[in-house]
Amino acid sequence: MSAIREVPFFRYPSVFTDHEEEFVRIFREVGRRGAFIKQRDLTEFENKLAAFTGAKYAIGVGNATDALEMLIKAAGVKPGDEVIVSSHTMLATASAVVANGATPVPVDPGDDHLLDPDSARKSITRKTKAILPTNLNGRTCDMDAILKLVADHGLLLLEDAAQALGSRFKGKHAGTFGFAGCISFYPAKTLGCLGDGGAIICNDEAAWSKMVRTCDHGRDPVTAEVSCWGRNSRMDNLQAAFLSHLLDSYQNTIDRRRAMARIYDAELSWLEALRLPPSPDAGGDHYDIFQNYEIEAERRDELKAFLLSRGVGTLLQWGGVAIHQLRQLGFTQQLPRTDERFKRLLMLPMNLSLSDDEVRYVCEQIRAFYA
Ligand SMILES: *Cc1c(COP(=O)(O)O)cnc(C)c1O
Repeated sequence: MSAIREVPFFRYPSVFTDHEEEFVRIFREVGRRGAFIKQRDLTEFENKLAAFTGAKYAIGVGNATDALEMLIKAAGVKPGDEVIVSSHTMLATASAVVANGATPVPVDPGDDHLLDPDSARKSITRKTKAILPTNLNGRTCDMDAILKLVADHGLLLLEDAAQALGSRFKGKHAGTFGFAGCISFYPAKTLGCLGDGGAIICNDEAAWSKMVRTCDHGRDPVTAEVSCWGRNSRMDNLQAAFLSHLLDSYQNTIDRRRAMARIYDAELSWLEALRLPPSPDAGGDHYDIFQNYEIEAERRDELKAFLLSRGVGTLLQWGGVAIHQLRQLGFTQQLPRTDERFKRLLMLPMNLSLSDDEVRYVCEQIRAFYA
């Protein structure tokens, strides 16, 4: 057996140190301009983000949870409405629905870990107003199936694309299929800033106009005239300046993540005890950006402990708890398929601080465990 190496699940300092010189230069430049709130760096970033995703509009906001809350409200979701979500998502997807007085209805994820359209169809009631799928792990949902569901039942499509910037289905970007989508720039996301940050992307001018005011106290972005109740959820101009810089080389980030996924795939796909995410070379309609590399593993807990003993950090997404399992928050749905799946889910290290050698080391340990 090879010597033990330390391969943590994520290296937070590298979010800063990988770009330290540029970040310090940007900090000094923006700071000396006194450009802290709603300055040209934010507008520039919003324009670049819209161009990158092919959305007509992008709005920089405080974080993706706020983005979800605001876009759900702008879509007209009201108290008493039901909104279908995947049970394999962050609590924020559901809490943003609750913040609008509506009820999140968790349904099963499918084999690709994303909201299963058939499971969603079975959960539609007279109260269902919207479907809010999560483009999880950097993969866009099968939007043909979801859009059909939405059309058949006269529903709204809202997207949690917090983990999916740059991910596409049939060439179209995550977050641009429905009324609006959110993106997160939390440090561990594929495009991470040095703190909290988020964005809303949308194609509809009226929706944009509503949301751009909501996040700034109801003020018109040009005249500052107040026309509705709002709140404060602006993206810091400094974070926008950092993000704008990172977005310029973001395609390299995606390429690198896909290259790591390729190594995992080549070294592990023959192991029968595992189910891997679709390979980046699988072809078809999806272009994945691998926010996470989430596998299903037999004897998952034993594998996790073994990897830790070999210096490898892994993580259970959402602490291993599905939305419908949060009984203390009032969920009553029975999703036995998802309960079973959640016993097998495990995320392997997937971030830009990893070398090819480190990824191969992780694979070697996994093979040793099952040998
Ligand atoms: C990270 C994340 C969020 C929340 O993003 P914040 O910017 O931290 O508010 C929402 N949904 C999903 C699926 C996420 O992964």
